[in-house]
Amino acid sequence: MLEKRDFYINGAWVAPAKANDFNVIDPSTEDVCAVISLGGAADTDAAVAAAKAAFKTWSLTAPADRLALVEKILKIYKSRNEDMAQAISLEMGAPIDMARDDQATSGDWHIANFIAAFKDFEFEHRLGDHAPNDRIVHTPIGVCGLITPWNWPMNQVTLKVIPALLAGCTVVLKPSEIAPLSSIVFAEIMHEAGTPPGVFNMVNGDGLGVGTQLSTHPDIDMISFTGSTRAGIAISKAAADTLKRVHLELGGKGANLIFADADPRAVAQGVRKVMNNSGQSCNAPTRMLVQREIYDQALETAAKTAESIAVGRASEPGKHIGPVVSQAQYDKIQGLIQVGIDEGARLIAGGLGRPQGMNRGYFVRPTVFADCTNDMTICREEIFGPVMSIIPFDTEDEALEIANDTVYGLTNYVQSTDGARRNRLARQLRSGMVEMNGKSRGAGSPFGGMKASGNGREGGKWGIEDFLEVKSISGWDNEA
Ligand code: NAD
Repeated sequence: MLEKRDFYINGAWVAPAKANDFNVIDPSTEDVCAVISLGGAADTDAAVAAAKAAFKTWSLTAPADRLALVEKILKIYKSRNEDMAQAISLEMGAPIDMARDDQATSGDWHIANFIAAFKDFEFEHRLGDHAPNDRIVHTPIGVCGLITPWNWPMNQVTLKVIPALLAGCTVVLKPSEIAPLSSIVFAEIMHEAGTPPGVFNMVNGDGLGVGTQLSTHPDIDMISFTGSTRAGIAISKAAADTLKRVHLELGGKGANLIFADADPRAVAQGVRKVMNNSGQSCNAPTRMLVQREIYDQALETAAKTAESIAVGRASEPGKHIGPVVSQAQYDKIQGLIQVGIDEGARLIAGGLGRPQGMNRGYFVRPTVFADCTNDMTICREEIFGPVMSIIPFDTEDEALEIANDTVYGLTNYVQSTDGARRNRLARQLRSGMVEMNGKSRGAGSPFGGMKASGNGREGGKWGIEDFLEVKSISGWDNEA
C-alpha cells in the first residue's frame, strides 16, 4: 500500500501539521490502495503564505521565462506517462490502456496547447488610434486556489495549473481526496522541472476542510473550481465575503440531437461517448434525442452497442470500461436506475446490479432507457455513470426545446447531414459548446458552460485570460 501523507509546500514535501489519515480506495477491488492526509487550516495557511510570497517575484517574471518553465514541465510530464497512467487507473478506475492513451495524455495535450496559445498571447496592447497614450495591460490576478475533481484528474489539473502559471499567478492545488495520487506525481514533475518555491503548492484535503479554507481565505484572489454544481454553489457562497473571483466548471446533461438524415453510425457513436470513462464525464451526451422516423432502428442499435461494451478491472489491458469511482457514486447510480424504472422509462440494455459474474468492485452495467420524457428524473439529473436516456421527437423545434429544457448548459451535440440546420441549431442551443457530426473541437478551443454548468472557460487563450485582470492605463509613454 502506498503511503503519501506529505504535502508540497514552498518547494518541499512537508508533513501535515496534524495527522489526519485518509484511505484511498481502489474502485476495482474496494480495497485500500493508498493512505494520504487530509490537511487542516495550518497546512492551508502555510501553502497560501508561500504562494503569496512567491507572487511578488513570479508575477514580474518575463513571459518567456514562464514559457521556458512550462516547456520543461511538458517534457518531464511526457516522460512520466506510465507513472501517471498507473496512478490514475488505480485511484479512479480508468482501464490501464485508456489511462495511458486518454487520461494521462490529456495532460500533455493541454500543456502543449497552452504553450501554442501563449506564444501569440499579448499581455499589453494599445487601445486604438483615438487614444495613443492609452495602454491595456493584462495583469495576473494573484494567488489562486485550484480545486479539482476525480473523473479526469490530469485533464483538470493541467487546465488550471498551467494557464495560472503562464499568466503569472501562483497557486495552491487541492485535488480530489478520492483521486489524489496523480496530483502527487504531478507535484513531483513540477519539482523536477525547477518550479520556484511557492509558485506551485499542493495540499490534499476534503471539501469541508481545505476546500472551504481556500474558498474563504482572505489571501486567495481567485478560486478555479471543477466539480459538482452542488459544490460550485457552496464555494460561491463561501467566497462571497472576500469577493474573490470564482471560476466554475460544473456538471452537464448534454443532449445529442439525432435527425433522420444523420450518418447511420451516429447512434452507436453516441452510446459509446456516454459509456466512455464509465459515464463519468461532465460533457457526456446522456440524453439522446432521436427523430421518430428512425426511432425503432436507433433503439435496436443503442441496445446492441451498450450490450457490446465490456466491463472489467482497471488493471486489465483492453478496451473495456472500468468501475465507477466509489461506493457513493455506485449507490447514487443504482438509485437513479431504480427511479428510471419507477417513473416508467423502458429499460432496453443493462439495469440494476453489477454485470454478471462480478460481485466486488463498483461495476455498473452499461444501461440504456428508451421512451423517456424530458421531465423524468433520469433526464434532469446528472447521473455520472454509464446510463443513457433516449427521447423521441418529431420536429426540429421540438428537439431544440427539449435540449434547452435543462438547468445545465455545457455541451450539446447535433447529428444531421443538413448543414443549414446544424448551423441554425448551433446558434440556438443554450450551451458553452456544441459538437456536430462527431467532430471534436479543435486544439486550443475554450471548454466551459453556461447556466448551472458554470461560468469559466478553460483551454487556449481564454483559459489564460481567466487568470488575468484587465488594467486600463492612460498617459503611457510610448517612447520609454
Ligand atoms: P465534487 O464537487 O464532489 O468534488 C470536486 C472537488 O471539490 C473535490 O476536490 C472536492 O473535495 C471539492 N469540494 C467538494 N465540496 C466542496 C466545498 N463545499 N468547498 C470546496 N471544495 C469542495 O465533484 P466530484 O464528485 O469530484 O466530480 C464530479 C462532478 O464534477 C460532476 O458533477 C461533473 O459533471 C463535474 N465535472 C465538471 C467538469 C467541467 O469542466 N464542467 C469537468 C469534470 C467534472
